[in-house]
Amino acid sequence: MGRVTATERRAVLLATAGLALAAGCATRNAVAPPVHASSRAPAPPAPPAQPAQLTHGPRDRPRVALTFHGGGDPATARALLTEAEKHGARVTVLAVGTWLDAHPDLARRIRDGGHDLGNHTLRHLDINAMSEAEARAEIAGCAERLKRLTGSVGSWFRPSRTPTASPLVTRLAQEAGYPHVLSYDVDSLDFTSPGAAAVARKVLAEIREGSVVSLHFGYDDTVAALPVVLEELDRRGLAAVTTTELFS
Ligand SMILES: [Zn+2]
Repeated sequence: MGRVTATERRAVLLATAGLALAAGCATRNAVAPPVHASSRAPAPPAPPAQPAQLTHGPRDRPRVALTFHGGGDPATARALLTEAEKHGARVTVLAVGTWLDAHPDLARRIRDGGHDLGNHTLRHLDINAMSEAEARAEIAGCAERLKRLTGSVGSWFRPSRTPTASPLVTRLAQEAGYPHVLSYDVDSLDFTSPGAAAVARKVLAEIREGSVVSLHFGYDDTVAALPVVLEELDRRGLAAVTTTELFS
């Protein structure tokens, strides 16, 4: 028996419930392979073992993370951020690189509000279907914009058009400075525009301690549903925190 690094311990702890729910961002993809983390030591100077996909945080603390696809109409982004802040909530925005090009002021707006800002690829294409070079460029392109706008590439990477990253994409994300791929365990399906009531109902039916919820900027349903969701979270004593805080 040897030393188990903190990273490995965290991977084992967090790589549970690896079955993805319905896909996000408008496509449905296959479930990722089982997550496995080695506890053998001493660890060679290699990147963290196989896919470190995070689907949820600790189930024994009353905290959840609301995570948003950063794209679409910037007015919805501002409305959602303001509403979250009115409730003392902090969220996580996974920004699309081309969206940051179009609305560079939003990067600072998000960070200044105390929210997490992360990488959701440069162009929001099906990253699992890309060649290594193309996928690397998608991740690096968004990371470069985040770095330029905020001084940091951010802590989190979420793949585009799939809830879970392939092993290749996971490795490329790690090489770009993102130790973990951020998936989720609650899919609001807000991008299907089912109506605000349906969005709120689905989130509130599935959310529990440790949940990571997938939501999107750019949809009116989400703007109308958020106050309902936040009020009910308050009532249940569940705090909406950044992803960084959820996993701290
Ligand atoms: Zn997305």
